[in-house]
Parts: sequence; structure tokens; C-alpha cells
Amino acid sequence: MSTQSETELRVVEVTRTDDGDHERFTHVVLEGYTPKDGEFVPLENSVVEGMINATPVRALCGKVWVPGRDPQRYPICPTCREIASTMGWSLPEG
Ligand SMILES: [Zn+2]
Repeated sequence: MSTQSETELRVVEVTRTDDGDHERFTHVVLEGYTPKDGEFVPLENSVVEGMINATPVRALCGKVWVPGRDPQRYPICPTCREIASTMGWSLPEG
């Protein structure tokens, strides 16, 4: 697991809203990473591009959806949080 601590990760929180009310979480999307001795490596998983081009992004928990422009804040998805915690990534408190 020590190799992960040498990698700088860029995570973006995105709220996924369904038509129903059953799922309102802020998911964590990994857009890319920066190796210790390299430049930022995008994973073609950009939330902004997803909003503009209506292309889906993938959250840490595996959910795939097209991000919308929804500024509301919800609790961070427990699965995303657990994965990030396991990998040693810090998340802003939601
Ligand atoms: Zn999630």
C-alpha cells in the first residue's frame, strides 16, 4: 500500500440524483493522478467534461452516470469513502 502514498490523487465530489429519492449521495470521482516524479495523468474521467459533453463518469464505488449541474451537498457515499480510506486518500468532510 505504500506506493499509493507517493501518488497524488485528484478527487471530485459529484452528487448523483435519481428521479426517485432513494439515493442521494455525493460520490467521489477519481479524475487522475500525479506520480511522484511525473506529470498529472488524466484518466479520461473528467466531471467537467461529463457535464459539458454528457459523457458518463465513474465513481470510486463503481457507479457510472452523467454528472449534472447540481450544487446541493449530500453525505459522501459510504462506499466511496471506505474505498478512499482504504487507499489512504483523504477526503474533505462532507
Ligand atoms: Zn459512491
